[in-house]
Amino acid sequence: MHIHIQDLHKKYQRGDTELEVLRGISCEFTAGSFNFILGPSGSGKSTLLSLIASLQKPSSGEVIVANERVSMLPEDFAALYRRHKVGFVFQKFNLIPTLTVLENIVTPLMPEKIDEKELLAKAHKVMDTFNIVHKAKDLAKNLSGGEQQRTAIARALVNDPPLVVADEPTANLDEKLSTDFLAFLERIKRDGKT
Ligand code: ADP
Ligand code: MG
Repeated sequence: MHIHIQDLHKKYQRGDTELEVLRGISCEFTAGSFNFILGPSGSGKSTLLSLIASLQKPSSGEVIVANERVSMLPEDFAALYRRHKVGFVFQKFNLIPTLTVLENIVTPLMPEKIDEKELLAKAHKVMDTFNIVHKAKDLAKNLSGGEQQRTAIARALVNDPPLVVADEPTANLDEKLSTDFLAFLERIKRDGKT
């Protein structure tokens, strides 16, 4: 999915002052490419990713993904775009603490009409890839940081999304799992994912 970002601005209101985090960003990411966004803490990386994933709206400017103006979508269409096109690995994981690993991982599939056998097969495939099968029945709140992260990665990928957006995905992984995750991203890039 080709991503075109045009003169993107994002301001946050902080009490009575405005903080302009993104000031006219323009760039392109070609379909099927693997990109890193680097910058110091607080420079707006998470903000930029959330705009690409249509989790929030820019103050002005546009994000166009595969010819769709995702920065202009009304919320119900933005939700469909996120569900069908984007796998998002959140910096803070955003797992539901009172659900098990398996339940967290299948949440993106719940609105779809797929039978339970297929649902479990998809979940097992990603749990296997990210080495979390043995924790399938554990509650998310009882996991270590690295296990939470692997669960969050598995949840983001269970839908087989064409666009994967990951916010500091390796921050809580050990060296081996970080290398594995980056190799996994390389592999899905070869399958045409962005
Ligand atoms: P990074 O991911 O590069 O560390 P962020 O995009 O998270 O940067 O944040 C950029 C700046 O915007 C920071 O100063 C942060 O405190 C601020 N910020 C982020 N989200 C919000 C928000 N929802 N409301 C107000 N300020 C925010
Ligand atoms: Mg961040």
